[in-house]
Amino acid sequence: MGALTQFSLGNKVAIVTGAGRGIGKSIALNFAEAGAHIVVADIDPNTAEATAADIRKLGRESLAVGADVTDSKQVTQLAEKALAKFGRIDILVNNAGGLPVKSPAVSMNEEDWDKIISLNLKSVFLCSKIIGKIMIKQNGGKIINIASAGGIRAVPGSSPYGAAKAGVMHFTQTLAVELARFHIRVNAIAPGSVDTVLGRTHRGSPQERVERSGIPLGRIGQPDDIAAAAIYLASDASDWVTGIVMEVKGGPYTRKGDMEMFLKMFPDRPE
Ligand code: NAD
Repeated sequence: MGALTQFSLGNKVAIVTGAGRGIGKSIALNFAEAGAHIVVADIDPNTAEATAADIRKLGRESLAVGADVTDSKQVTQLAEKALAKFGRIDILVNNAGGLPVKSPAVSMNEEDWDKIISLNLKSVFLCSKIIGKIMIKQNGGKIINIASAGGIRAVPGSSPYGAAKAGVMHFTQTLAVELARFHIRVNAIAPGSVDTVLGRTHRGSPQERVERSGIPLGRIGQPDDIAAAAIYLASDASDWVTGIVMEVKGGPYTRKGDMEMFLKMFPDRPE
């Protein structure tokens, strides 16, 4: 008994990176609704401030910080500002990421490769290192890394993104083992196709995305679908969970041909 109350984030302090829009914004707002105070970090200070204003309307405290999470100095300043305002950091969500360029691997220039790896993998290392040290001093914390289904399955044209996200999932496991003795839990969420600017830019209409990926539950995700999983991993309810990757993607992707054959063989609802 009592499990439900463990989902509360009452008075915890969370940093959410890339929280100016999309999945990060949804995580920030849902965490606030669950009781947390939020440091909203984004490379775009204006969108960060807009999210922070929405959080204050929910009655929680919020600090907006413009920070590029690929730059260790800016991440250090982010951590210092968070500590100066709140005195502790209970939760870190490494959400900032993206796919600025798509290209076949053999045509990709080195700068674009480095940029995408830096944005999606080095950023997770830097934030976890700098904020992880603060959590070690506190003797506890929760780190949640936003990976991607694209780090599990090949997506042509996105090789550095997939490699970085696969790297995030592996890093999650190693960090979870290294930090377990300090009572810091480290987990990842691997979202499938989610309805955000990033998703819309590269992946076509929602229906095309459902059909192409073969999503059994028949719809793409909404940012709140990811935030719901993040609340679990940020809260005391997941205290015996570390080093996992939670796939939130509408079910195991299924090839169109396999599904058509199955429906041909079993067209009727069972008695
Ligand atoms: P989005 O592009 O809508 O939002 C990303 C946010 O990150 C933006 O506010 C942007 O300003 C910020 N950002 C970008 N670079 C930054 C940097 N260097 N430092 C700080 N902030 C930065 O993207 P989204 O769809 O909300 O994606 C969020 C996370 O989820 C990403 O890690 C993405 O890879 C992952 N993801 C998204 C999908 C999807 O379908 N949308 C699927 C799987 C994984």
